[in-house]
This record gives sequence, C-alpha cells and structure tokens, in this order.
Amino acid sequence: MNKRYESVIGLEIHAQLLTESKLFCGCSTKFGNPPNTNVCPVCLGHPGVLPVLNKKAVEFAIRMGIATNCKINQYSIFARKNYFYPDLPKGYQISQYEVPLCIDGYLEIETKAGRRSVRIKRIHLEEDAGKSIHDQGNFTLIDYNRCGVPLIEIVTAPDIRTPEEAGKFLSDIRQIVKYLGICDGNMEEGSLRCDANVSVRLKGESKLGTKTEVKNMNSIKNVINALSLEIQRQIDLLENNESVKQQTLLYNADLHSLEPMRTKEESHDYRYFPEPDLPILEINEEWINEITCQVGELPAHKKLRFKQQYNLPDYDIEILTTEKEYADYFEEVVNFTSDYKSASNWFMTEILKILNEKKNSIDRFPIKPEMLAELINLVNNQTISGKIAKEVFNEMLEEPQSPYEVVKRKNLIQISDENILIELIQRVLDRNQKQVEQYLSGKEKVFAHFVGEIMRETKGKANPAIVNKILKEKLSYLKKKNQ
Ligand code: ADP
Ligand code: MG
Ligand code: ZN
Repeated sequence: MNKRYESVIGLEIHAQLLTESKLFCGCSTKFGNPPNTNVCPVCLGHPGVLPVLNKKAVEFAIRMGIATNCKINQYSIFARKNYFYPDLPKGYQISQYEVPLCIDGYLEIETKAGRRSVRIKRIHLEEDAGKSIHDQGNFTLIDYNRCGVPLIEIVTAPDIRTPEEAGKFLSDIRQIVKYLGICDGNMEEGSLRCDANVSVRLKGESKLGTKTEVKNMNSIKNVINALSLEIQRQIDLLENNESVKQQTLLYNADLHSLEPMRTKEESHDYRYFPEPDLPILEINEEWINEITCQVGELPAHKKLRFKQQYNLPDYDIEILTTEKEYADYFEEVVNFTSDYKSASNWFMTEILKILNEKKNSIDRFPIKPEMLAELINLVNNQTISGKIAKEVFNEMLEEPQSPYEVVKRKNLIQISDENILIELIQRVLDRNQKQVEQYLSGKEKVFAHFVGEIMRETKGKANPAIVNKILKEKLSYLKKKNQ
C-alpha cells in the first residue's frame, strides 16, 4: 500500500438474534427447516395482517447496546424501508431509521497501534428478508423461512483505519454477541454478516474520500482480503487522477475479485417513513436495569481478571476466553486445583484438540472439570507421571470416571521408591553393556536409550525425575572409575 494514503473504514454488521420466534409473528426461526415451512400470513405480507413485536428481540438488542456502551433510547421508532425484491413479500422491510433503539456507543479494540476506540453510531432492530436460491437449474427459488427473523444492525463511525483493525473489530463483536447469547456468530451460515464501507485519502487530510461498500464476505479473513483489495484499487484510481465512484461491490472469494453490484441507493430511494402499524417503542429504566444485570462479564473484563487472578500468559488467556464456555470450564477446573498453568495446558492442547476433531462443544465434553483437576493433582503429588496422565485422560474420555479409580484399577501408580529404581537401573545397565561403553566414550546421547529402557520395563510408571537423577549418578560414577 502506498504510504502517502490512509484508508478509512466503517462497518455495518448484521447479527441474527437467537430468539425462538420471528420479530413480528410467532413463526419459528429455526435454521435448516424445509423451505417455506416457517411462514404465516404476517411474514408473507398478506393483506390486512398486523405485526406484533417480539419482546425478547428487543431485550437482546438492548443487551448488545449495553455491552457496547450505547445510550438506550427511551423512545424509538420503527420505520418502513421500501424496496422491491422477490425475497421481500411485503415490499418493505420494517427497520428503524431516524430514531433507533441504541445510539452513541463505542468499543475499544487492541490493535498493533495500541488500544483504539471505535465509535458505534447506532444499533437498530430490523427484520431479515427471505433467501433467493439461484443454483437450482434454470430457476430462482425463494425460501421465506428467513423472512421476518430478527436482526440487529450495528453501524460504526468511520473510525477504523486498516483491514486488520476491521477484522479485529468484527471478531470482537462476534465474541461479544456469543458471550451475550444473542447470536451464534456463525458467518458461514450468515447469522453474522458484515458490509464494509471504505474510502481512502491522503494522510493528514481530514475530509473523507468517496466511499464504496463491499458486501458478500462470509468470514473475517474474507473481510480483510476484500478490504485490502478495494483499498489498493481506490489508491490506484487516485494515483491515475481518476475518481472513486460511489458503488456497492460484491467480493468473490474464489477469484479474490470485486464486482460492482449496483450504484448505491440514496436513502431517499427507500422512502423511509414511520411504520404506521407499530406504536412508538418505549423502554423504561427499570427494564434497562434488569437487562444490565443479565449482561454478565464481557470478554475484555474477563481477560483482565484472568491475568490478575491466574497470572497466565496472554496467549493462554486469549484462548481460554475465546468462548465464554471455555472460560467457565477452566474456572471450574481451578476450583479444584491451584495449578492454573497445568489446567490451561490441558485445556489448550488435549481438550481443544478433541473438541476440534469431534466438532463438539465443551458442554458435551465427557470429562468433568473436577475430574480433570483431580488428574492434575495426581501428577503434582507424584502419584502418576505426566505420561501416564495422558493414558488416564484417554480412559476418562472413553468412560467418565475418576482418574484415581483408573490409576488404582490399572495399577499405574508411579514408582518413586529409590531402592526399587536403583536396582532396576542397575539391571538395565548390566543388560546394555555396549551402550554403556558408548556413553563412557563420550556418546552421551545414549542416555535417552537407558531412560527408554527403564520406562519400557516399568510400563511408563518410573518417576522420570528420580530415574534421571539416579542414572546420572551411576553413569558419572562409572565414568570416574574408568578414568
Ligand atoms: P449511507 O447513508 O451511505 O449508508 P452512512 O452515513 O449510513 O452512509 O454510513 C454507513 C457506513 O459507512 C457507516 O459505517 C459509516 O461509518 C461508513 N462511512 C460513511 N462515510 C464513509 C467514508 N467516506 N469512508 C468510509 N466509511 C464511511
Ligand atoms: Mg447505511
Ligand atoms: Zn410468520
């Protein structure tokens, strides 16, 4: 990127709310039902029907507003956004326009340039449209199941400066909606969608350049890639003394290319006007307070607290707090052991590996936190070695059971008795005269061979620290004797 320019980015993020029913009717919002089965006269826009607002959707939107430091408007207004498209049977979408539910918030993000605050202009409620399906032969089919599903739209000020920052902001928003339990955050399935507005200008310039809007990016990576491409395109235009045309572009991830969609409608094209079938939405203070109590601990705060309380490396904390459920699991483990780092290690390596392999969520993980803590404690009090612990862990995966039960049943208790180990090591050395000579002549790598033999002999139960100590003593004694 040309160093004389800077890019300016503002995001519009749509999040599908996890309510049971749609925004203005009782139809199910369940994803994946047969096409056109989650429908009724209201969401199909039949004449004479009237919308009834879903209270849960309002509550979820307010939760997001509180989590992003917004002011919750005591009065807000639903508006009709009129446009024609086959997936919009009413011919208009009920949204909020002049007076949205939440305004003037901000979210702080960690960037390479330090902490930055991105202002959130508004969060409003609206209904989703249906879905056109273009890949079924020569027809376009329409599925109205999604029609009327509640969305919040989060609109930022043009405060973002790089594609990476946009990616970070989006991933933080995604984490927050998941923490709040208001959206599943799934970008591939379209429950979370992001349109990115971007312009460029010479550094030091305060006036904003002409923006374009980039759509159709179904992952954070694609948002970053699409923005980088568009920024370069705009800089090239300006460098050639051409101007940027305001338009909407569709990103094609396979080709890594942008195709113009249409020249962007001005808002007057939508002929917004207040929705006559819905009263002004009035929110009382008491309800806001109630919702504030439901918000719970947000990711940024949890990270800080983890640092103070458990003193773990930042890397660990990032991973443990990715999902609220991960953090909850970890905290349950450390209720029963004071070895925070081991708990973190088990989680990051073994547990996450299994969750990824099995595409499972942590709440269905078979090993209960208390049992994992017990396993960690068995290693720390020298009952078993770390290696045996893996074996016990695998047994516990197969069938939920206490690790100590496994250890007892399979006779896995670690051998730490020095007298037993001295004898054993002597036998191994006697049996491996050739390797002993190699060792004494300077080939110290064979040390590992002896350890391996001892471990094999004891089926991994020998205490490795004590084995190492005795072995070193014996070998250095032999070395001295040899000289
Ligand atoms: P429109 O009316 O075209 O939708 P808005 O003012 O509603 O424009 O802004 C939509 C989004 O575009 C917001 O996220 C805003 O921050 C962003 N935006 C507005 N102007 C610019 C600009 N010149 N460059 C980059 N982003 C911009
Ligand atoms: Mg807009
Ligand atoms: Zn319906």
